[in-house]
Amino acid sequence: MTDDCLFCAIVDGSIPSRQVYADESAVAFLDIQPWHRGHTLVVPRRHVASIVDDPTSWEDLRSVVEHVVPLLMDRLGADGMNVLMNAGEVSGQEVMHVHVHLVPRYDDAPGLGNLTGRDTTDLDAVLAQLTA
Ligand code: AMP
Ligand code: ZN
Repeated sequence: MTDDCLFCAIVDGSIPSRQVYADESAVAFLDIQPWHRGHTLVVPRRHVASIVDDPTSWEDLRSVVEHVVPLLMDRLGADGMNVLMNAGEVSGQEVMHVHVHLVPRYDDAPGLGNLTGRDTTDLDAVLAQLTA
């Protein structure tokens, strides 16, 4: 736990999140400003600023990523997915706690040019679909 880290606070429950899945080393929750329906972040429970600071943090994420990728594909009927990690401010990383973006993609908005399009679909409905 690092003071003033948003994702540490989400991991310890002091800030609420729409949790999709978790295990002993990582937590998956819906991104609050989804690029596409079902956009999910997976974060390690321990505080690591970025994958560059500690490349072994990937191991913490692996099991939850392996669980959530097929969950998103199957439950949401996605046609593909972007799996993305930013590291360092220069890359666009805004929250300095390792996280992988799992961004389900749909045939009606294909390609990298549409990656960061905002999806206004209700987050609670998405969570219900994933956790029912
Ligand atoms: P990055 O730019 O890779 O650091 O991505 C940070 C992501 O965290 C963005 O996609 C934000 O929408 C997301 N985010 C920020 N605050 C929250 C929050 N309270 N709950 C869920 N996702 C968040
Ligand atoms: Zn943290």
